[in-house]
Amino acid sequence: MQHIRNFSIIAHIDHGKSTLADRIIQFCGGLSDREMEEQVLDSMELERERGITIKAQTVALKYPSLDGQVYLLNLIDTPGHVDFSYEVSRSLAACEGALLVVDASQGVEAQTVANCYTAIEQGVEVIPVLNKIDLPAADPERVVAEIEDIIGIDAKDALRVSAKTGEGIQAMLEAVVKRIPTPKGDPDAPLKALIIDSWFDNYVGVVILVRVVDGVLKPGNKIMLMANRTAYLCEQVGAFLPKAESRDSLAAGEVGYVISGIKELKSAKVGDTVTLADNPATAPLAGFKEIKPQVFAGLYPVESNQYDALRAALEKLQLNDSSLQFEPETSQALGFGFRCGFLGLLHLDIVQERLEREYDMDLITTAPTVVYQVVLRDGTITEIENPSKMPDLSKIVEIREPIITTTILVPEEYVGVVMSLCTGKRGIQRNMQYMGRQVMLVYEMPLNEVVMDFFDKLKSVSRGYASLDYEFKEFRASDLVKLDILINNEKVDALSLIVHRASSQQRGRELAQKMRELIPRQMFDIAVQAAIGAHVVARENVKALRKNVLAKCYGGDITRKRKLLEKQKAGKKRMKRVGNVEIPQAAFLAILQVG
Ligand code: GDP
Ligand code: MG
Repeated sequence: MQHIRNFSIIAHIDHGKSTLADRIIQFCGGLSDREMEEQVLDSMELERERGITIKAQTVALKYPSLDGQVYLLNLIDTPGHVDFSYEVSRSLAACEGALLVVDASQGVEAQTVANCYTAIEQGVEVIPVLNKIDLPAADPERVVAEIEDIIGIDAKDALRVSAKTGEGIQAMLEAVVKRIPTPKGDPDAPLKALIIDSWFDNYVGVVILVRVVDGVLKPGNKIMLMANRTAYLCEQVGAFLPKAESRDSLAAGEVGYVISGIKELKSAKVGDTVTLADNPATAPLAGFKEIKPQVFAGLYPVESNQYDALRAALEKLQLNDSSLQFEPETSQALGFGFRCGFLGLLHLDIVQERLEREYDMDLITTAPTVVYQVVLRDGTITEIENPSKMPDLSKIVEIREPIITTTILVPEEYVGVVMSLCTGKRGIQRNMQYMGRQVMLVYEMPLNEVVMDFFDKLKSVSRGYASLDYEFKEFRASDLVKLDILINNEKVDALSLIVHRASSQQRGRELAQKMRELIPRQMFDIAVQAAIGAHVVARENVKALRKNVLAKCYGGDITRKRKLLEKQKAGKKRMKRVGNVEIPQAAFLAILQVG
């Protein structure tokens, strides 16, 4: 055990975590040069394209240290996005150390701070690493000062590396061996293993990745997952080198995979404790949480005969993503579809893109919404995930909305614009601190406002320099109303949304205008109205087309005409017929473009 080092790499997105992980694997001879061609740890195609790590994975490496000893390094990759902060915290709980990677040309950003604090909370030894020192714009001195000012940890011994050229990697691994503590734990105590990650494998079923804290786990043991007290037979244990290799056992201090005939991913929850059924631990490891979706959206097939295919695709995705939830939903406007719950906006984006790309689905997605707690006159409290399901106002005592605490880091010159953006989104400032050339702003903000494009606006007003992190704070009562959109006097349920009363009229006007721009002209006039209850707050008109589009082709050659028809058909793919009006996908998301 004294030759084991368990560590993670934590970083703000794009600071070079995956590249550094690959370089470490290469340095330790885990893979040939050819196998190194592709980034190894980001294994899903989508991850590679987006350059983000969605699922934590881990790898066990042999490192021959300059002190003459060979160390076993367990490198635990962590997801790099704010939606996955719980998984990050569980990965860190499995480690004794973390490399805090900061891009030496960019400096400290919001997730650098958030992830570092999570590591410190878990009692993990943090080693600052300045990456990308090969870049001419690298300014290590300034970044050292930023780490000390903003995060408040000693960074004078920060390592300087280039994940790209390999410079400084050996010195960094020496620091891993010297500065990260040896794992503690009692191999003779009852088994306690933390589930760091789990995924579904088509051949062997659910695979769990664990950090053994106490005890020893062997194939043939009867294991028990403590959250649900369900038992399974342990069939195989092993480690990723990075290819899977089976072992005789996993003992206290070690990290590896377990195959045990678990059928469903939702039985193997990240953060749960594995113990032995015959000699169970008295208490599970601390920190387990059931994660709940925060953001909801309706997903509807463009063609209604694709409904069963969509269900099958969602079921498949859920096999490997237990945080994705869905249930059937019927919309008057959109027909049969699913209400889906996501951890956050990026998660929604990823699921939507995978459905379209890997499962070839044509979808209409409704604007993302949050969960509201509604207190009714009869004293009951219900949770509403879909604005169109909001009970009649006369039955409601109070509507409570989710509030988040967001931490924003931004260069001084953009503080003014960022503050007015936050205020415009009903943000309440809780803190503001100047740190070197950056300013840290802390706001409490309704999540509802954040899901309406706050990220994009923040990036654009700060020219990409602001970074953000957020966490759920509480449900808070607020003066909210339901805004309905009517098209040719018919309410379109999929377009209803919940807004604050103070901005409801303006939102209604902007939304109606936007809809007018987005709905293509058709053979007849189309009236677009925004209404709060029976009160119409805005009215717009989409004028009828004067002549048939095909008229242009009269007498023209047949191929041109066919092309035009094909083009029209392709354009229609993302249209949904509501009553007799064709509405494009973009209109269902129009709300994201106003306010
Ligand atoms: P992650 O989001 O933290 O996993 O970051 P990636 O490893 O995907 O790196 C983000 C970008 O920075 C990629 O384009 C990398 O090629 C680049 N990059 C990473 N490390 C270095 C480095 O040391 N030097 C230079 N010049 N570029 C780097
Ligand atoms: Mg990455």
